[in-house]
Amino acid sequence: MYGYETFHEELMRNLIDSVHHGQSSHAYIFEGSMGLNTLGAARLFAAALACPNNEIAPCGACPSCIEAKANTNPDIVYVNSGAKKSIGAEQMRSLETDVAIKPFAAKRKIYIIEDGTQLTEAAQNVLLKTFEEPPEYAVFIIVIENAAQLLETVLSRFTLVHFPPVTDETVEKYITEKYPEESERLPFLVRYSAGIPGEADRIISDPDFDALRARSLEKMSALTSSDRTAAFDARAFVEEYKDRFSDILAFWVSFARDMLLIQTGSGENIINADKRDALRSLASKTDPAQTVKLFERILKAHKMNLRFVSPKAVVMWLAL
Ligand SMILES: [Zn+2]
Repeated sequence: MYGYETFHEELMRNLIDSVHHGQSSHAYIFEGSMGLNTLGAARLFAAALACPNNEIAPCGACPSCIEAKANTNPDIVYVNSGAKKSIGAEQMRSLETDVAIKPFAAKRKIYIIEDGTQLTEAAQNVLLKTFEEPPEYAVFIIVIENAAQLLETVLSRFTLVHFPPVTDETVEKYITEKYPEESERLPFLVRYSAGIPGEADRIISDPDFDALRARSLEKMSALTSSDRTAAFDARAFVEEYKDRFSDILAFWVSFARDMLLIQTGSGENIINADKRDALRSLASKTDPAQTVKLFERILKAHKMNLRFVSPKAVVMWLAL
């Protein structure tokens, strides 16, 4: 769309229409998985805001549009933490100074905060202050996966634009066009990506993905048995791959889900269709109630992992 990759054409068309009708806001939150290319959507929207051709922006032909496309438009400012871990109050204060300077050539000056999770609380408060009386030309776009991670006060002042996951058909089309060589894994890739095309990119570019998934399935039996040796074996496995623990947990979630589908007679909908026999064998050793429990435990382990409990501790808790 306008030479930008977007998975949400209708949503973007409505947003761009609002610019044509003079109804744009000073502040947006683009919320959705990064794998939906929300940053690309922000770039497209910024190009539309900066383009002087009111009726057709982004026209794609004016200097502003050409520079926007090349990421060299001086009036589209990308804000990120750089080498630092977060965007602090000080960085936002220098941004405040920059906001006061009129656009170089474009109609508006657009600030794209590339990952809103990097904003510290103090930085968000500075942003709110800047936003109290923004100059006519200034527009802020915060790109973030989950807007709930921002302060309430920020949420209430910004226009929230939510980018939902796309349909399986869209993901399938995306993979087929971009990776024609992936026809064999296609059904799995589509289901596992769960509406996020970028997830398919991640899997396809990861040479260890298939091997790790296969080994995670082997170790899944440790979670379904009461055998202590198996539990220690699972722990050794997780220790070996501790950098990939969140992937392993995601595999286990999908295996447990598939086991439950097999047990309840909906086996045709499983994600890991290529592992059907192994999953069927695992499913035959438990009953649906136990599988639900296992599923809940793995989800809880996932949360523990997000709270930085060590993988070793999580897997021992999970297996024993
Ligand atoms: Zn233009």
